[in-house]
Amino acid sequence: MNRMDAYAALLSLWREAHLIASSAATLEWEQQTTLPTRASEYRAQQIAYLAGLHHEKSTDPRVGDLLHQLESSPVEGDPLSVEAVNVREIRRAYDRQTKLSKSLVEALAQTCSLAQHEWARARQERDFAHFQPWLSKVIELTKSKAIALDPQAPAYDTLLDEYERGTTTSQVEEVFTALREPLVRLVQQIGQAKRSAPTEILHRSYPNDRQQIFGEMAAAEIGFDFDRGRLDTTTHPFCTTLGPHDCRILTRYNAHYFNESFFGILHEAGHGLYEQGLQPEHFGTPMGEAVSLGIHESQSRFWENQVGRSRPFWNRFFPRARGVFREALRSVSVDDFHFAVNGVAPSFIRVEADEATYNLHVMIRFELEQAIVSGDLPIADIPRVWNEKYRDYLGITPSNDAEGCLQDVHWSAGLIGYFPTYTLGNVYSAQISQAADRDLGGIDGLIERGEFRSLLDWLRDRIHRHGKRYSPRELVRQATGQDLSPAPLLQSLREKLSSLYGL
Ligand code: ZN
Repeated sequence: MNRMDAYAALLSLWREAHLIASSAATLEWEQQTTLPTRASEYRAQQIAYLAGLHHEKSTDPRVGDLLHQLESSPVEGDPLSVEAVNVREIRRAYDRQTKLSKSLVEALAQTCSLAQHEWARARQERDFAHFQPWLSKVIELTKSKAIALDPQAPAYDTLLDEYERGTTTSQVEEVFTALREPLVRLVQQIGQAKRSAPTEILHRSYPNDRQQIFGEMAAAEIGFDFDRGRLDTTTHPFCTTLGPHDCRILTRYNAHYFNESFFGILHEAGHGLYEQGLQPEHFGTPMGEAVSLGIHESQSRFWENQVGRSRPFWNRFFPRARGVFREALRSVSVDDFHFAVNGVAPSFIRVEADEATYNLHVMIRFELEQAIVSGDLPIADIPRVWNEKYRDYLGITPSNDAEGCLQDVHWSAGLIGYFPTYTLGNVYSAQISQAADRDLGGIDGLIERGEFRSLLDWLRDRIHRHGKRYSPRELVRQATGQDLSPAPLLQSLREKLSSLYGL
């Protein structure tokens, strides 16, 4: 077989594996939206079956043979060409997959599927004890996975590398160390400020159907393509891609809290814009995949916070919000509304947290995860330690497990080592915003005039179209001219909040 045929055969096998993976993703999407309660057990079997089949396909010895052939006669030239990147990344994924046994992959898929169901029940009943045995099973299987992938490395390093390639536990610790003190000080200053954000505005009556109309309008205006995606309702919002022209975003509505769905929709639409900005012709291959969770989160946070919580954004959207939510916003000014959506106060729920306290929520999970994986923290002690950390870092104590350690779906889904990517995303989003502002001659005017296309094109060019071409850190370096740095995030928060709170 000549080189061109070998490459074509490799891509064809890889795309076949992706057909199975995207079918499983479709079943998972349905599981999170419309699945009847009693259907979950059979659904778990379906998902586990497809996970096993996907594993079989992506570890097919023919993939190994073709990779070997392509690597033994490398093409001269650009190591960052589409072909070179696909071969490099398929090798990485193939090696990773072949280290995991089919039985482990199936056990993980089935256990996590059931554990998610039990988590949802435990959360509803505010009862961690109900979830505890399931979490123990998930943690044990996740540790087995880490050991199978790299028996030498600390398990947490291996798990983190799954989501943010090339970023180590100590690098994440460095970022948190740089953020911790300035953020705690900023939050304290705000607590003592003479002004307070008029957040009562956000808790008036916002009918769900109107929130949906307003949220969809904003998502479409920033560029989310509803001919290639849709918005639905779920318990724990996320974004998933089911095909080259099929990106699903999900939200949940709270008729008495404006932020929950609106900023949730902007956030998930930001993820969706990244997915829709990947090149469809590369779908099912590494060149058509997002590079990492940290970069993914930088895109959602860019639209949610850097754009969506800016003054020019509300100069544009507030008059429309007032038209949609007449009762709630009748006598509210744009000044007050902008201040309200930027209000800072310690709270229990991570996904509703403000920009300043958010990274403290992530830090708590990062610390707990490391202790759980290392075995220092028994699973049964999670609620107690969780509550202690909330008291220490945020000065508040959850009154039950639903607003404490049961609030996130991640652990039940086996996503251990995932949380730190949220903070990396926040850090990257501020770096990206600063660079776009410089390159485009100021982004405030673009936002106020609704010229989101220029912003989106900049992101498409610098971030989206590259797929897995560069490592996450290299991609940010190329896009912004700067290495990973928490400074722009701290600077943007200080500037905005100092002016709002009169610090
Ligand atoms: Zn996100």
